[in-house]
Amino acid sequence: MYDVEEKIEENPNQIVFNASPGDSWQRGHCICEDCREWDHPDGDRRRYSWEGLSQTYVALSDRDVTFANKVARGLKERFPDRDLYVYMYAYGNSRPAPVAAVPDDNVIIGNVANFLLRSDLPDRGSLAGKTHREQFAGWGEVTKNHFWRPNTGSPVGWQTGFPDVPLQRTIDDLKFAAENGWMGIYIDYVREFWSTQGPMYYLMAQLTWNPQQDGQEILSDYYQRAFGPAAEEMEAYWSYMEELREECYGDEKPGYSDHDLVEFYNEQRLDHAVALLNQAGKKAVDGPEIYRRRIDFVRAGLDFTRLLTECARLMKSVNDGEDEDGAKREKVLENWEKIRRLQQKYPSAMRWRNIFDGFRGSGPPRLGSAYYPGDN
Ligand SMILES: [Zn+2]
Repeated sequence: MYDVEEKIEENPNQIVFNASPGDSWQRGHCICEDCREWDHPDGDRRRYSWEGLSQTYVALSDRDVTFANKVARGLKERFPDRDLYVYMYAYGNSRPAPVAAVPDDNVIIGNVANFLLRSDLPDRGSLAGKTHREQFAGWGEVTKNHFWRPNTGSPVGWQTGFPDVPLQRTIDDLKFAAENGWMGIYIDYVREFWSTQGPMYYLMAQLTWNPQQDGQEILSDYYQRAFGPAAEEMEAYWSYMEELREECYGDEKPGYSDHDLVEFYNEQRLDHAVALLNQAGKKAVDGPEIYRRRIDFVRAGLDFTRLLTECARLMKSVNDGEDEDGAKREKVLENWEKIRRLQQKYPSAMRWRNIFDGFRGSGPPRLGSAYYPGDN
């Protein structure tokens, strides 16, 4: 806990104060009578753990909103001349909208509804199997002060820097959020993998600024201005990457990739992508150099994807004891050198420090960080 007066003294511009519970959302919630008084018996059923005990109980949304309202009213009373807000996460076991409690006007809900990139993701905390999308919409009905704060996970390599570009899905998700009352967004995480995910960042920024825009028109404009004479070919390239992404993601495991992406981004698929880039290169051959350089920049991302997935396949085989003559290990080291050269030539193509250790990204490859999809 902290004192708001002290906070304001430190930072006179601070107007939002976080009153959310800690991160360990399945454990340790208070079950004293006073707290349970604030819970609603009709709340969504969830699973809880305490030391030596696990039980099914109702969601904590009504409790959290009641608490936030109390704090918010206290703030108003204590600082009647200021416009101050209480911030409360809808996270963990308070992800569903409250049944009866309604957030006060000076309560802002930070909605950790994880449907960005994963429209169909079920909330694993909901015993009824509610999706994050449904829950988000529920909050939209009870408050206007509603921030979308999705965790992205790494469904098809989003956090590894693979071309995880679900463009139309993202258009739909952002529009859905806008239609259900968002006032803003911040995302955990958007890394800077410009060469493999560039159009996604542009699209997301544009639709956040104005969700009424036509998403496909934003993309056409992007291809046109970024690639000039090769716009059509580059659109074909990014559409193919989108198609691959959606095929890999599939619909058998809602919220997760149906395929092992290291196997999925194989030679045959990546060769087809290279062929599309080559066609774009031909179109740009006589135009201004900037367009050729941009196509090469995108090509660096594709090379990265090929080299890294190849490394992962080779290392699996090495670890399975299938490398008697050491040739596979040798090839992995060769690939790392090639990735290193990409880093030197295209420093802003990828978030290289994800790949190479250290802030400046000059150390050896990092083990364990390379391609595992996140699960948060
Ligand atoms: Zn209590």
